[in-house]
Amino acid sequence: MKVKKISEHIWSLQTWVLIPITVWVVADQKGVTLVDAGISGMAKGILTFIDKLDCGPLQHIVLTHGHSDHVGAIKRILEHNPVPVYANAKEMPYMEGDLPYPRRKKAQASVVKGLANPLSEDEQGRFEKISGLTPYFAPGHSPGHVVYYHEEDKVLLSGDLFTSKNGKLQRPMAMFTGDMAEAVRSAAIVDRLKPARLEVCHGQSVFHPTDQLSDYLKTNQSKT
Ligand SMILES: [Zn+2]
Repeated sequence: MKVKKISEHIWSLQTWVLIPITVWVVADQKGVTLVDAGISGMAKGILTFIDKLDCGPLQHIVLTHGHSDHVGAIKRILEHNPVPVYANAKEMPYMEGDLPYPRRKKAQASVVKGLANPLSEDEQGRFEKISGLTPYFAPGHSPGHVVYYHEEDKVLLSGDLFTSKNGKLQRPMAMFTGDMAEAVRSAAIVDRLKPARLEVCHGQSVFHPTDQLSDYLKTNQSKT
């Protein structure tokens, strides 16, 4: 597993199984937050890294969405370290197997029912900040997909909202994306937040993504 410090408070941990699979460790005053949980083989490496990092205990796991390559290590991590797991309430019925993900024939649970808690929302339906990260709804790849913005470090952890190639934004993998047109529309969050750096689960970092956004939209709106 490859570990990289990407900003003052954030590290990326990446493994390869045909494609890169990335999770992020985010430190704050109280401890660390894990964003996404990759595949089961990453559990030991994630726990060892958090231990060595010495920035305090794992406090919680937050998910961008519930696809199996984003939740795989949860079970083994919780066996060692029982912490709460959070996801968007809109993602729950799909990840818990009550509804099939769009364009899938069958419902299939990727986590045990009741394992994940809904991210807190205020009365206007805005997500509340969690350990320096603000969740934003960015659907399309999956119905309840969220991205996490670390305002202080100006880093956007975008999950599967995009992939990347040679430092350029690419659309998410078509085969696993429920509604590509919606995913492309959700890219507007980049213009709203103007991050200095954007991280994707299946690819490498993208710097100053806002500069690429109009090209991205031009290329991908016509495809959907
Ligand atoms: Zn996915």
